[in-house]
Amino acid sequence: MDEFALIEKFFTRQPTSRSDVKLGIGDDAAVTVIDAGFDLVIATDTIIVDTHFPASTDAHAIGHRCLAVNLSDLAAMGAEPLWCTLALSLPSGDADWVAAFVDGFFELARCFDIALIGGDTVQGPLAITVTVHGRVKSGEYIPRSGAGSADGIYVTGNLGASAAGLRHMDDVDHSPAEAFLIHRFLYPDPRVKEAQSLFGLATAMIDISDGLHVDLTRMLHASGVGADLDIGQIPLSPELLTCMTEEAALELALTGGDDYELCFAVPIERETELQALLSSWDCRLTRIGQTHSSPEIVWTYDGQVYTVPDTSFRHF
Ligand code: ADP
Ligand code: MG
Repeated sequence: MDEFALIEKFFTRQPTSRSDVKLGIGDDAAVTVIDAGFDLVIATDTIIVDTHFPASTDAHAIGHRCLAVNLSDLAAMGAEPLWCTLALSLPSGDADWVAAFVDGFFELARCFDIALIGGDTVQGPLAITVTVHGRVKSGEYIPRSGAGSADGIYVTGNLGASAAGLRHMDDVDHSPAEAFLIHRFLYPDPRVKEAQSLFGLATAMIDISDGLHVDLTRMLHASGVGADLDIGQIPLSPELLTCMTEEAALELALTGGDDYELCFAVPIERETELQALLSSWDCRLTRIGQTHSSPEIVWTYDGQVYTVPDTSFRHF
């Protein structure tokens, strides 16, 4: 199918229609309404074949994933997602591929009532860039930089499963536990709803895309505090532990990345208020440590200082 037929068939019909979209797909640019009293929050992320996902990845999962990783960035600010754009570089105009891709994309867009308001479709290596737009009430975003010197450090969900799943993607056969891990890689659950409930409580927040060690270090540096962290507290899924030793699982949880969980700080004395939010959350919450005013970041495991291996992914 040619570019214009693809756009017409797959992108102009979508499940979400929002009254704040004055002009969506079909003009040179989109026009949306921004209500008074809100700040616009914008994030963009690209995923590329063989860098972010293996070439064998199903188009439906790629459609979910390219939006999910962006929603996770918006979530990390505590924002409500509204609209997105999609720049798609495709090796060919394969209509079956695009049909499966948009199914995955729009299923997730519908969950959060996000409208696709524009994009670009070009021929090239498979690469997808999504930009998401969201909002917070004026000033009510959660930055990386606000952690205090006596805050608990918390993470949502379980860590490490997704990175483990990636390693099994091209296996001919998998056990049920491995299938679970692969699903965690392909279909991240951005913690959008949970994040929005944290304004006023979380002093700093980041989403875990490159691995807990690197991302938490970024948050602590931005906040100008250090922390004591207990590796034994890192939440691991039972499926991960059936596939490898606890030590190997913890290393993946620290450095593997692709978790798209949230890591955030809340003053210790407010932990009861935080626990009260959990009844409306879809995931577990775990405290893995506490900040302090000196800059050292100390990871311990079974009471011993633990040096986190420097194996996190870097593009360059
Ligand atoms: P232009 O040449 O003005 O940039 P295009 O022909 O690239 O317009 O796109 C036509 C319309 O389709 C525009 O509104 C554009 O935003 C939209 N569009 C193109 N590709 C996509 C896509 N992958 N997803 C969503 N909208 C798209
Ligand atoms: Mg264009």
